[in-house]
Amino acid sequence: MFVIVDVCSRLPARQALEFIFTLALIGAPLQAKPEGTAGSAGGEELQVSHSARSLQPGEVVLVEVQASQRVDRIVGTIFDREVPFESVASGHWWGLVGLDLEVSPGENILQLKAFQQGRPIGKAEYVLLVEKKDFPTRHLTLAKRFVNPPEESLERIRKESRRITALFGDFAPERRWEGPFDRPTEGAPTSSFGKRSILNGQPRSPHSGTDFQAAKGTPVKAPNFGKVVLAADLYYSGNTIILDHGQGLYSYFAHLQDFKVSQDDLVSKGTVIGRVGATGRVTGPHLHWSVRLRKARVDPLSLIAVLSSSRLSR
Ligand SMILES: [Zn+2]
Repeated sequence: MFVIVDVCSRLPARQALEFIFTLALIGAPLQAKPEGTAGSAGGEELQVSHSARSLQPGEVVLVEVQASQRVDRIVGTIFDREVPFESVASGHWWGLVGLDLEVSPGENILQLKAFQQGRPIGKAEYVLLVEKKDFPTRHLTLAKRFVNPPEESLERIRKESRRITALFGDFAPERRWEGPFDRPTEGAPTSSFGKRSILNGQPRSPHSGTDFQAAKGTPVKAPNFGKVVLAADLYYSGNTIILDHGQGLYSYFAHLQDFKVSQDDLVSKGTVIGRVGATGRVTGPHLHWSVRLRKARVDPLSLIAVLSSSRLSR
């Protein structure tokens, strides 16, 4: 395991990239567990390595696989979900794994299978050893109706929750996003990801996004290419936009003042999709950005860091 952010902060950008590439090819010997044979063909070795800010809940992990012979397809599985892998160079493949905000610390095994003309020719198991992370707790005092919503709003809240859950399960199979993700607004991010909230003294689920401090009306830009799959006013998150970046990667923007795009619009990186506001359950204007990666709730800043530091995503 190596830490991209620390490396980059000490080296000029280009040097850091070269260093990371070299490390990536060397691999992560402590955690790689290549298995030599699979199926009748046997013998195909898969060298596996990863890069991430850390292996902790809420982090995005970039996994690289080097195959010694021609491989048509690589399929990964972890947390009972498939991880799509893409080829970037001869024998060189990569994919993204999301460690959910509430994943238990310990060993999690990524199963990898390599295929040639539909035949399995190799497999590997790669252990991602997730370390514990203690997220801070925040105490908030909000209007009563947001902590204990009134009876007449319960049906609306349930309906919206079902709609969002269904959306995250119905993603575009192709990759729409390209290259690194950009910050969606000018404001500074707060270290709010994963914080436990105590609302009016009552514990709530952890904060699954990163909040950006920005004044009302500040433009919100698409951090990457995607399709608008929701642009609607929701009870808790106010004016909300969800972008489907493809392959199970989603951006969720909340509390917007207004929308500059509509459902089903295709957006490019940098397209203004709305403006910062204070709609929904908020204590003041800010932008809330959540990222889902194959249903895992991950820190958007982790996604930015891991892809900005890798030439693989370009
Ligand atoms: Zn938030």
